[in-house]
Amino acid sequence: MSEIVLAVHGGAGHLPKRKITGKARLHYEAGLTEALEVGRGILQRGGSALNAVTEAVAALEDNELFNAGKGAALCSDGSVELSASIMRGSDRSVGAMVGLRRTKNPIRAARAFRGHLHGLLFGQEADAYAEAKGLEMVDQDYFYTNNRLRQWRKYRETKSVVLDHDAESAHGTVGAVARDRRGNLAAATSTGGLVNQLPGRVGDTPVIGAGTWADNQVCAVSATGKGDAFARIAFARRVADLIELAGTAPNEAASRALEEVKEVGGTGGCIVIDPSGQVFLPFNSAHMLRGWVRGKGAPVTAIEVVD
Ligand code: ASP
Repeated sequence: MSEIVLAVHGGAGHLPKRKITGKARLHYEAGLTEALEVGRGILQRGGSALNAVTEAVAALEDNELFNAGKGAALCSDGSVELSASIMRGSDRSVGAMVGLRRTKNPIRAARAFRGHLHGLLFGQEADAYAEAKGLEMVDQDYFYTNNRLRQWRKYRETKSVVLDHDAESAHGTVGAVARDRRGNLAAATSTGGLVNQLPGRVGDTPVIGAGTWADNQVCAVSATGKGDAFARIAFARRVADLIELAGTAPNEAASRALEEVKEVGGTGGCIVIDPSGQVFLPFNSAHMLRGWVRGKGAPVTAIEVVD
């Protein structure tokens, strides 16, 4: 039996100081801790890594502090478009959803789609699939928060497209990686995309091999950051390939892949778990909201470079 391990992230970027001190910080930490406890509960009851990452991410989607599900970043036309992906390490099966507008928990839709003949669904058909699977559907209004509307007005005027954590009102894309008792790995990632992005834009999050990857023999990865750059280097698969094919240690593989992201104009971070249950959480942005829990141990959360 393997020791259970779970790590989560709540986005990377450059958070203003007032967001990572005092009460604001406590809210982030509480959100990450809650997600860790939800996922750990599943793992402790003998549940799969796949279910643990799904429900840990769903907890972060329900928390409006983060850029996924409720409280997601808005597109330039003021709409919400949600994307998510999930991968199971035992058989490298995947599920990905792009451009959801009505599904309350995109990661549950990706989870429900996993195992289908197809790997990725987009738009109305993706929402329709989630609805047919009995998942909770909501109006767009559900996703909006006052913070997001303020942020949208501001960035619409300046016509800039920014990473959520670099925007005035800071929240972040979410993800989870886990190892269950049977030693299986899984990874899941969910996002509202970039602040003021073009409607229809697809970043790294729903793209298997860019934002998400899991292979029991190698690692599970969930990324966050400037997704266009992460997608250009096929980030998550790059980390796995460096480990598997070049024999690079997981932390070095992730750091090197982040360097490559930088070379093409992006910054961010990722969470990685390897088959032995070691967790790595590197980033090359100023901050990454992150947390991990192991066995019955206390959940640990961190935001800055020094833990
Ligand atoms: N990677 C996400 C995207 O580009 C954004 C983020 O991680 O916050 O859509």
